[in-house]
Amino acid sequence: MKINQYEAMTFAPLQTNFSFIYLAMKRSQLFAIFLLLCSAAFAQTAPPADLATIQQSFKKLNVLGSVLYMAAHPDDENTRLLAYLAQEKHYRTGYLALTRGDGGQNLIGTEQGELLGLVRTRELLAARRVDGAEQFFSRANDFGFSKGPEETLRIWDHEKVLGDAVWVIRKFRPDVIICRFPTTGEGGHGHHTSSAIIAEEAFKAAADPKRFPEQLRYVQTWQVKRLLWNTFNFGSTNTTAPNQFKIDVGVYNPILGKGYGEIAADSRSNHKTQGFGSAKQRGSSFEYFKTIPGDAPVNDLMDGVNTTGAG
Ligand SMILES: [Zn+2]
Repeated sequence: MKINQYEAMTFAPLQTNFSFIYLAMKRSQLFAIFLLLCSAAFAQTAPPADLATIQQSFKKLNVLGSVLYMAAHPDDENTRLLAYLAQEKHYRTGYLALTRGDGGQNLIGTEQGELLGLVRTRELLAARRVDGAEQFFSRANDFGFSKGPEETLRIWDHEKVLGDAVWVIRKFRPDVIICRFPTTGEGGHGHHTSSAIIAEEAFKAAADPKRFPEQLRYVQTWQVKRLLWNTFNFGSTNTTAPNQFKIDVGVYNPILGKGYGEIAADSRSNHKTQGFGSAKQRGSSFEYFKTIPGDAPVNDLMDGVNTTGAG
């Protein structure tokens, strides 16, 4: 497939580095060519797989089902849940970070703005290599703190960012989308609230052939089964409730010899520009979910989705 505008800006495969395209949109073409040459010269090769990884891969072959996690920034993602979905449930799992975190602080170097976004892109890819999820982006710019979604969506170019999210959904074809934040503001930052607004709009638009029809040369429309909000208990804000659907993601994987709280910490510790060194945890840890559109799950996140390929 030829790389179109959506593909160039949203795709972040684990072994191939398309970050230079992102930078090329904003910096000089010469610099992009330099990065391209560097990228080719130092192309990553996958380390040899150990037996546990091979066994995990075989298990994954027998499972259908995919989940896309959506939020605004590098570090918003729930690495414990991503690791659990990818490595315990063997679902194809992705994280769509609408921004690359250009607006944050850099605790390990002097890069700021777009260059910091590039460093954080690499940090996210490193985190995904640990938790087993795939990484996607949109063209939304992290312009620093925003008080509300009106300001954020105006600066982001609402329609462009929505188009990118629709593209990722039509290409990745998730059965379930999970948002980190709600549309109602409890996530605080305007970027966070906007990521939920974009997710809800993209849920509908991805299935509508009248929305972003130019994409349909490359991908088909896609109906996501359900959109959930992964409610949270951060500081003084507790949005979880006993009647919400919940999953214990703190289980131990005997093949890997690790619990998902440990894998999550290893993944999250890659956010080095943000000074994250997460402590490893073992034992039960529940994640709670509130259904936004779609049928609420009763027994399983994938209720109503064929995850075995049978039938
Ligand atoms: Zn954030």
